Amino acid sequence: MSSLPRHISRLVNATLPDGSRVDVTLNGSTVSSIVPATGLDTAINPDTLDLTGFLLLAAPAEPHAHLDKALSWDLINPPMGDLELAIQSWHDYTEVMTMISIADRARQAALLLLRQGITAVRTHVDLLAGDDPMRGVHALVRVRDELRGLMDIELVALAGPFVPSEHVDEALDLGVDLVGGAPHLSEDPIADLRRLVGIAERRGVGSDIHTDESLTGVPTLGEYARLVRDWTAPASAGHCVRLGTLEPNELAAVIVEVLASDIGIISLPITNLYLQGWQHPVGTPRGLTALRALLDAGVRVGAGADNVRDPFNPVGRSDALETASLLVSAGHLTLDEAYAAVSSGARSVMSLPVAGVEVGAAAELLAVRGTNLSDVVANASADRFVIHAGRLVAHSTVTYDVATPLQAVDSPAFLAETR
Ligand SMILES: [Zn+2]
Repeated sequence: MSSLPRHISRLVNATLPDGSRVDVTLNGSTVSSIVPATGLDTAINPDTLDLTGFLLLAAPAEPHAHLDKALSWDLINPPMGDLELAIQSWHDYTEVMTMISIADRARQAALLLLRQGITAVRTHVDLLAGDDPMRGVHALVRVRDELRGLMDIELVALAGPFVPSEHVDEALDLGVDLVGGAPHLSEDPIADLRRLVGIAERRGVGSDIHTDESLTGVPTLGEYARLVRDWTAPASAGHCVRLGTLEPNELAAVIVEVLASDIGIISLPITNLYLQGWQHPVGTPRGLTALRALLDAGVRVGAGADNVRDPFNPVGRSDALETASLLVSAGHLTLDEAYAAVSSGARSVMSLPVAGVEVGAAAELLAVRGTNLSDVVANASADRFVIHAGRLVAHSTVTYDVATPLQAVDSPAFLAETR
């Protein structure tokens, strides 16, 4: 049995990404002061953490998960392939899923995210075919309740084109927060998009829609943005892969609509790098949205992992630092932009309050062993402290034991350089 969660009121000797060393005071679930580290306060009271050797960051958030699908790869053993094949593999498996089996995988997947430092998750939940279409919803509502106080979980009803609108209403009645769907899978994407937005409007809730998750086809993001322009409820669009292959003038026109509605865009590199491009064995395109153009235009951009070890993505460490690393290598973002996308950007598209190391911000914090952001994103040490609402909710330690190199005899060249 874990001794966590534990109330924390002081973090001492923490390194920030700008290189400064600070002591941080928490007042409940809020950061109340940040001062230069004195180096004196290393007495380990139960409510004080000594973060010597750790980089202190705003905790990441996962803006687009599928906790009901996660960790099913080994159970399904599906063939590798594109989105269509993944949907088929998943669909065949859903018939044997029980409420308890869904909850068990979802809980395990959520705790893996928490262990890595993610303290807020937005997960989509399938409205299933068959006699009990709400069993995924019941499972995820239960897991959300079980984890209350450890992490914030938001639920999105994933209403595919064949899911009746009454089922979306039923899911919202059961406690699901937002309306979602995947209009690009419909025969008439615009009609399905309007249906989903209409349900959200009628119910007065936000929407988070899988949008344009393909390299070709007519993009729907501009229309989605126009439909929600006057909303006060939050609206966001996941994937938006098609934006990454649009011609510059077409892209510019969509971005104008996105900015006018302030819709948040969610990029999901690990899953879309896996799912897209199977038809292009040569010069394989990257299944990423137009990250650079969106950021430069001032669009709110968040990033997450999407699927984890299921038919839509066989790999993944449930780690926002893995997503940040991919944003650098495959998306060409800077390290600062990449970490912002998985933390402040993710929280922004989820409409969560600002978190991190600033006075007045929510005390959602992640400390990772490392010297600076490039070290932390590159090495992603598992040595971590995770704080949610001012409480330590996860702590991992790693020990290394590496053989010592032989003592070399200095050659004349080496001796010359040390002289
Ligand atoms: Zn998704």
